[in-house]
Amino acid sequence: MRKRQCKIVATVGPASSSPSMLHLLHQAGVDIFRLNFSHGEHDKATRIMESIRAISRDVGTPIAVFADLQGPKIRTGVLKGDGLDLKYGAKYRLTLAGDTTEDDVIPIPHPEIFSVLAPGDILKLDDGKLQITIESAEKDRIIARADTPGRLTNRKGINLPGRKLPISALTEKDRADLAHALKIGVDYVALSFVQRPEDVAEARALIGDKAGIISKIEKPSAVEHLDEIIELSDALMVARGDLGVELPPEDVPNIQRKIVRACRRAGKPVIVATHMLESMVESIAPTRAEASDVSTAVFQGADAVMLSAETAVGRHPPTAVAIMDRIITATERDPECAAFTSLDDPQAEHTTADAITLSARRIAEILDCKFAVAYTKTGSTAKRLSRDRPHCAILAATPDANVANKMALYWGVAPVITVDISHFHDMLDKAEALCVRHGAQDGDRIIIIAGYPFGRRGKTNTLKISRIGAKGE
Ligand code: PEP
Repeated sequence: MRKRQCKIVATVGPASSSPSMLHLLHQAGVDIFRLNFSHGEHDKATRIMESIRAISRDVGTPIAVFADLQGPKIRTGVLKGDGLDLKYGAKYRLTLAGDTTEDDVIPIPHPEIFSVLAPGDILKLDDGKLQITIESAEKDRIIARADTPGRLTNRKGINLPGRKLPISALTEKDRADLAHALKIGVDYVALSFVQRPEDVAEARALIGDKAGIISKIEKPSAVEHLDEIIELSDALMVARGDLGVELPPEDVPNIQRKIVRACRRAGKPVIVATHMLESMVESIAPTRAEASDVSTAVFQGADAVMLSAETAVGRHPPTAVAIMDRIITATERDPECAAFTSLDDPQAEHTTADAITLSARRIAEILDCKFAVAYTKTGSTAKRLSRDRPHCAILAATPDANVANKMALYWGVAPVITVDISHFHDMLDKAEALCVRHGAQDGDRIIIIAGYPFGRRGKTNTLKISRIGAKGE
């Protein structure tokens, strides 16, 4: 069992897709793997998925996997000679073609974007490294001025900061990738460039309950519709890479805080992503600023923090994970971190389940309980308990392997696959045995939460305080 509550997501890529490297990453601390469908091929994704499931079976620990769909990422086409040196203040013509053989032409093969461009619009190119401004936009003739000098090469990303674009969050490629991701049994699907709640609803209509939905917040319009998007999603990701291109960098920290708080209040898991230990793509150690960034996300109450290039293409994937693990553990050990987490005010529903999980948190504090065991059919009780941030370990027992994998994303939750309980003593015995297996000692107090009659969904109504070795007394 991990000695920390905040979870680690690692992106799988060329540096980490072999079974032995995936195993090392899991040993180093990865709880959730991210398959990036922007780059991956379907056969490769199938093989990686099989390796992760095999590792999970071998070590007896549920592991979550999510497919990150590319979404409607707008890119330049193919330039003459594969590159163009933009000169400060020089004019360039934009064309709708997929490629060009002309000088000073930038192809943008996206009719939806082309039709909305207007004078004054700013286009960020290549993840914000370059910028052009539209000077004139007539029907088929759009002229832009370069605001930054630099080399633009083929198929680089384009962002239109602040513009809501008339495009769906799912492209044809996304739909094909989604079908494959569901076929190989991913636990979650991450949607890129969500702009409005309807984008999430559209994806839900295709996904149903086959996987959870993680909405990536990387557009200002998504921030405007934050609460509605949270409501329709199973989890959120603060995708700071594109967010920092769409918005000035000084706005990103405030938005990160806002998203984490909103998710905490709504009881939805939230992942803070991108550039967390970026220098470790090359270096063996992070910068002090990076260590501080991970620590801040943990302190704010993120359920998970994510590694991208560090594990996908970096030189030291297991070290990056191990260091992230150490930063999280050190942060959580600080009593101020636990005190700050307790200040959060998740919105309790007026339900028996919420009353029970909130009480469990208080009981854990008063009696210094070491473990809370939640018997859960759908994972909902474990999610509520995680939301309430009790100061004890959470063991979430379920007979459903798919539910167990999903729960690997929840803050502080150690999912365990068990057979259904059938009567009261069975509930106590199994809970005690589970706690002992995870390090509980004779005399330790534990909390057990279940629904009676046993084995039904959505029936959480029972809380028992027990002592290890006291035979249920
Ligand atoms: C991001 O932009 O921060 C992000 C996670 O998305 P991607 O890496 O898929 O562009």
